[in-house]
Amino acid sequence: MIDQPEGRPLRGRYAPSPTGYLHLGNVLAALVAWLEGRKSGGTFVLRIEDIDTERSREEYVRALCEDLTWLGLHWDEGEGLGGSYGPYTQSARYGRYEAALARLRALGVLYPCFCTRARLQGVGAPHPGERQVYDGRCYRLSPEERAAEAARRAPSVRVHVPPETISFVDATYGQQKADLRREVGDFRVRRADGLYAYALAVVVDDMEMGITSVVRGRDLLGETAGQIWLMRALGGTPPRYRHVPMLVDKMGLRLSKRQKGLTVRELREQGMRPEEILSALAWASGILPERKVLSPAELVGACDLSRLRREDIAVDALGLGK
Ligand code: GLU
Repeated sequence: MIDQPEGRPLRGRYAPSPTGYLHLGNVLAALVAWLEGRKSGGTFVLRIEDIDTERSREEYVRALCEDLTWLGLHWDEGEGLGGSYGPYTQSARYGRYEAALARLRALGVLYPCFCTRARLQGVGAPHPGERQVYDGRCYRLSPEERAAEAARRAPSVRVHVPPETISFVDATYGQQKADLRREVGDFRVRRADGLYAYALAVVVDDMEMGITSVVRGRDLLGETAGQIWLMRALGGTPPRYRHVPMLVDKMGLRLSKRQKGLTVRELREQGMRPEEILSALAWASGILPERKVLSPAELVGACDLSRLRREDIAVDALGLGK
């Protein structure tokens, strides 16, 4: 059994953005989330994170459902199945994000930000892989300056984080600690074009869907402290987090949905079987102690999630694909 906050039954989720075909990195996150659900007898939810409507496509929603089904990673609730926490598609949940924004406004933690992308790129340009921390320029604007900026352009909306340190234990990466002001900074909850930001949507959804365990890529580990703070500000209890390592190509670059050759579709076209793909991922990520090919149901018993490695995984090491 997997320990749950306050002994609540596990409700896990896989929350892909339908911006391309599922690749092996996405499958590792889905596999670990699915295994966690199956090992604990909990509920595995599939939520579609199409909050970025410019990049999301209905075609990719269908494709990812087909791919997960073909792999044998069946979900209990969510896309296509429904359930009592729906809708499970972010573009159908705007009213909830608006309500959350109103609560934050009432708490007095929001302010408009007029910074252009060009300016933001220049702000404390981070080293590769580091999180960019907003310098708070628009928080410090006087009412007159704010009015003058507002006449020129539509603002995005940021939350002003307090001088607090957030600590949590990630099931893979261990004890984490972040100084909100210094390491996270004031982050956007609504974009200048009116779309809600991922940071707001993910928190509202995990909270309102009663999610107790979040499994996702390590690239989001740095976003977690801010999300925990936001969830508490909205009155929620943060879930437990289990970040999974990234899959990288020969150059050490993370797989992206734009990359060819390592999507589930392509591997299937090359004649690969679902159990070969899942077992190779389970072995290369450390959770399956021996290199062998097992069915998804067999993987549930054979995998030990506490052995999940922290380091990036080279796709070449999987011995799949061309
Ligand atoms: N939708 C995000 C993605 O596909 C994942 C967000 C999350 O799991 O919290 O990268």
